[in-house]
Parts: sequence; structure tokens; C-alpha cells
Amino acid sequence: MFPPQPGKRAEIAIIGGSGLYDPEILEDIEELKVYTPYGQPSDNIILGTLKGRRVAFLPRHGRGHKIPPHKINFRANIWALKSLGIKWVISVSAVGSLREDYKPGDFVIPDQFIDMTKKREYTFFDGPVVAHVSMADPFCEELRSKLIETAKELGISVHGRGTYICIEGPRFSTRAESRVWKDVFKADIIGMTLVPEVNLACEAQMCYATVAMVTDYDVWAERPVTAEEVIKTMARNTENAKKLLYEIIPKLPTEPKDCSCCNSLENAVI
Ligand SMILES: [Zn+2]
Repeated sequence: MFPPQPGKRAEIAIIGGSGLYDPEILEDIEELKVYTPYGQPSDNIILGTLKGRRVAFLPRHGRGHKIPPHKINFRANIWALKSLGIKWVISVSAVGSLREDYKPGDFVIPDQFIDMTKKREYTFFDGPVVAHVSMADPFCEELRSKLIETAKELGISVHGRGTYICIEGPRFSTRAESRVWKDVFKADIIGMTLVPEVNLACEAQMCYATVAMVTDYDVWAERPVTAEEVIKTMARNTENAKKLLYEIIPKLPTEPKDCSCCNSLENAVI
């Protein structure tokens, strides 16, 4: 299902979100256009090296932020990364906060999600092969714990648990919706890009976790923010994300060992 690209392999992928378009922490950079059965990925993939590790970088919205969340070709993105031999996927995204104590500038490493998207391509298994992968624990625990530990070492304010509610977008929530997400669904953060990236990565048997960077409080807070404040927070978040990636990438083992992500299709294929 995922044929390798001969001679162009990497082990760790970074999917960059809003604010992170440029893999400036990498050395020996080359650009690779990957063709997939699902069409074009969001952009060319940048291959490079960080402290001896081979890394692939893909800006989720394309360089110049040209692709809105509901138009991202998630299947092409994940297929392209898998075809390069990627084992670890670190996804970076900007989110709104649904709780007072998850403040702008904080990082959240979510452990659960709620899918409120409406019309995306959610699976590689459109038949004749049918598979139902388990999403009970959707993120790689080994990768999550390393992200949390490294962020703490760097002095970043990080929350090790959180439920990410993914909405369709591109519009933001109404006040009524925001209160439902917060008070009825008990979600902690809100964004537009996690689903179906996370479940496709699982189907592709890769270890996936996301670094959700809080930019502001969602509309429930009735706390107007200026564009200037958001831009300032995003700039600080991007700097912290780069520091985190720079430290964590060399720490990842060559083979995942404390998780079952790579066996996600066992008992899933019918
Ligand atoms: Zn894993």
C-alpha cells in the first residue's frame, strides 16, 4: 500500500502548522516532489539532517499558507511521508483554548480528540480492503511522553493531557458552539487540522503525536484579542516549537519500542 521511494529515506517527520513553514533547524537540505495515488501533498517535502538524524519537513498549509484546513490533502501528505520510511511524525499546530488554565503561549500534548469535521477523506481503506483501526488511544504514548519531558526541560509551560476538538472550519465557532465544546463535550483545545491526519497516520502504522500551541482563548471567553497580541503569541510559540524539535529529534530511538502504533492494523483488517 505504501511503496518506498528508493534512496530518499528519512525516519522522523515534522508537519508544520500555522507559523511553522520553514525547516530552518535542518542542515543539508534537499527538496523532493512526491507523487501519490491521492494527488499532491501540501508542498514539496524538505529532507534534511539534524544532529545525524534524517528528517522530513512538510508545511501542512503549503509554503505561504495557501491551503485552508478543509482543503488539505491529508491522505497525500501521510502517504508521502510513509513512502519515505518515516516512523515518527511530530505534528505542530496552533489551537484555541477552551479552559482558563491553558493559556496563550502554553503547549498542550493532547491524549484524546473529538472529531466534529464534516467532509474529509478519513481513510486509506476505501475497499476492497476494509479496516477499522482502534482510536481508543489515538496518539503515540512514547512520543507524547518524550515531548512532554523535553518541553519541561526547556522551561516551556506544557500540559501533558488534553482533548482536542477538531472542527471543519474555515470559520471559527459561534459563541453557542464554543460553550458546547467547553461545557458539554469537555474539550480543552480547539483546532481545524488534527483530523484526519492523526487517524491516517495510525492506519499507516506510524507513531504520531501533536504539539498544540495555544494562541488565544476561543470565543467562549468573551475576551476580545487584538491581531497584534495573537501575532506576538504565535511568534513566541514558533520559537519554542523550534527549540522543542531541536532537542527532541536526536532523543528519539531509531525504532519505537514502548508503543503499539506500528501494529495498528493487527486485528483491524477484515
Ligand atoms: Zn508509537
